[in-house]
Amino acid sequence: MTVKNSTIGYPRIGRNREWKKAIESYWKNECTEAQLHEQLEQLYIQQIAVQQEKGIDLIAVGDFSYYDHILDTAFMFNIIPKRFKQQNLSKLDTYYAMARGNEAAQACEMTKWFNTNYHYIVPEFADAEPTLVENRPLAYWKKAKEALNINGKPVLVGPATFILLGKGYEQKDVSTLFKQLTPLYVQVLKELEEAGVEWVQIDEPIFVTDQANDYWKEIDAFYQELAAAVNELKIVVQTYFESVTDYNKFVSLPVSGFGLDFVYDEGQNIAAIRQNGFPEDKHLFAGLIDGRNIWKGSLSEKQAFIEDLLTFVSEEKLVIQPSSTLLHVPVTVKSETDLDEQIKSGLSFAEEKLEELHLLIDLLQNKHEKVNQYEEELAKFLQSSSRLNSAVRSELANITDEDISRASTAERQLLQKKKFNLPLLPTTTIGSLPQTTEVRQNRLKWKQKQITDEQYDQFIQDEMKRWIKIQEEIGLDVLVHGEFERTDMVEYFGAKLDGMTVTKNGWVQSYGSRCVRPPVIYGDVSLSETMTVKESVYAQSLTEKVVKGMLTGPVTILNWSFPRVDLPRHEIMNQIGLAIRKEVKALEENGIEMIQVDEPALREGLPIKKEKREAYLHATVYAFKLATTDVRDTTQIHTHMCYSKFDDMIATISALDADVISIEASRSHGNIIASFENFHYDKEIGLGVYDIHSPRVPSVEEMIHNIDRALSVLDKQLFWVNPDCGLKTRNEKQVIEALTKMVEATNQYRKKVALQLN
Ligand code: GLN
Ligand code: ZN
Repeated sequence: MTVKNSTIGYPRIGRNREWKKAIESYWKNECTEAQLHEQLEQLYIQQIAVQQEKGIDLIAVGDFSYYDHILDTAFMFNIIPKRFKQQNLSKLDTYYAMARGNEAAQACEMTKWFNTNYHYIVPEFADAEPTLVENRPLAYWKKAKEALNINGKPVLVGPATFILLGKGYEQKDVSTLFKQLTPLYVQVLKELEEAGVEWVQIDEPIFVTDQANDYWKEIDAFYQELAAAVNELKIVVQTYFESVTDYNKFVSLPVSGFGLDFVYDEGQNIAAIRQNGFPEDKHLFAGLIDGRNIWKGSLSEKQAFIEDLLTFVSEEKLVIQPSSTLLHVPVTVKSETDLDEQIKSGLSFAEEKLEELHLLIDLLQNKHEKVNQYEEELAKFLQSSSRLNSAVRSELANITDEDISRASTAERQLLQKKKFNLPLLPTTTIGSLPQTTEVRQNRLKWKQKQITDEQYDQFIQDEMKRWIKIQEEIGLDVLVHGEFERTDMVEYFGAKLDGMTVTKNGWVQSYGSRCVRPPVIYGDVSLSETMTVKESVYAQSLTEKVVKGMLTGPVTILNWSFPRVDLPRHEIMNQIGLAIRKEVKALEENGIEMIQVDEPALREGLPIKKEKREAYLHATVYAFKLATTDVRDTTQIHTHMCYSKFDDMIATISALDADVISIEASRSHGNIIASFENFHYDKEIGLGVYDIHSPRVPSVEEMIHNIDRALSVLDKQLFWVNPDCGLKTRNEKQVIEALTKMVEATNQYRKKVALQLN
């Protein structure tokens, strides 16, 4: 059997986030540029060495990055905005300035990479004059060859993906950009060929969207030129995260191999092959191991799938690999020394996925010994009784439409106005208050058992007490407890809910050096003990003003976790919804009658394929309502979302039926307001009046201006004044100053309104 295995990409961060530490110490001037290069090169070689040890035939090289691979691509082609070029910084500092901004220039925009939680730096094509600054893939290929004597597979971002994910160009400029970039790609490939590279991988995930459709002529022309320019070098065009949108066009590109995702395609890719066949003279790079989730899968099922593929493509031309780069999963299960053994036996992170690839090759060669061991481990996990909770399942099955509906908006508004008796334009915040070094240090000490539970609780209480007082002094109308007890708005709940767990070292890169540790949903989710009542009740006991209860919603908990794969996503979401429903109820029973359920990840969970979006939105509304409707009409449900691209979702947002929503708005310069011109939104709403992402404290005038702009389309009786998002990343001084000005702006505005009324 000559089936080969391959990788598409690998985590950069190292087993213990050495990558993050090195980069951040460079930013803090704690190490020199030379030291940074030395450390990162070592990490790069380590990541290749692991793949070599695990017996990978075709190892992706050059997917490594000092920040982000799209930024690398822009940098390599000299797509560097003027505001950075003119600063005459060193190469490395220009690179980091683009990513992070500096005093002289605003950072490039950052946005989500397809439907993952990875964020890339958006290339700016306005005034771009593309040239080839450096053949990065070649440099990385050489490093790997020198250190480990491998002929790796250099990875490049393809031009369609690179251009269409960028900004600053009009539709008509796309052809020009293709023309400008083509000779540069040609040069990169020729040099790779000369050096002796056998395979090069060109990533075109954009082919799974419908964005590329309009530019097929340019795409085809580009690949024709590449093909004409090289002789021996073989190109694989790689797609992932969904099925390729136009299979026939895709497989007619003049390259040597095609990469398809057979895990996240919902059967569409294999259906296309069955229907149309696969070109005889081409290689199929088959993504069979889940590159984005962390579960082991049945190898015998995969073996059967491979045998099916072999009826369409010969052994020599089949390459098996993960469904995408492994960048989106943690490095190794071996670091999880505290995890329940049964759960652990079901897990597979990046290193383990490499082993799975190897085992699959074993299977094809009829070597069963290790495979049997693997399947036994997996069975241990699958059969674990902690995964099934029949009570939750039957409770969910018995929920009726009535259970998830409330009185009409108008009725609730009337009752709630009376109950809370808030002034016009009530002021509040989004929930979190500064997570200072002190807060984090105390949590660490507590985790390391250097302080007792009592000491830690006392610290959190003192912090709440101090901030309730500060909020009262500032004059806010609705207060928050501050979320000091939470590391993260999802992890906190992941650690407390049954059926979910958190990892010790399961870090994945989110953006730049920032890594997150998504919780793991391994079984049916339920609530056995309340999660937030203690803190909320304590905070409320300190003041006459209302303190909002603060929870994360089911959609966000699901979207920011690693979900199990044996239940449909909407069912998992509903289980979480039911658990949150009980928490909401418990808060209400304990006197917390204004409760916020955050859903910042609702929009980013939108499926890549348009035809799947409606079902998704419908499911999110159901789960959110499940979480929030078991309350009295007088109890006010709030929600918060961080984004402002709203126009295509406003009906969904209204359907959530929250009494009050707060959303980010100050950075979108009024774009969001236009969405309300065409949609009559009858619930209460707070559009953020200042940007919390920047340390700058805005002026009273700016905030008045923002309120003014919002009230040109929104009803002032329904409007709230709040910042854009939570304040946990800001320092105390900035927060106090900004909120004081926010209250001042509101007061001035109220006076103005009162004058108009007289
Ligand atoms: N309540 C959370 C906070 O204030 C909301 C954060 C978010 O939406 N990302 O931090
Ligand atoms: Zn937010």
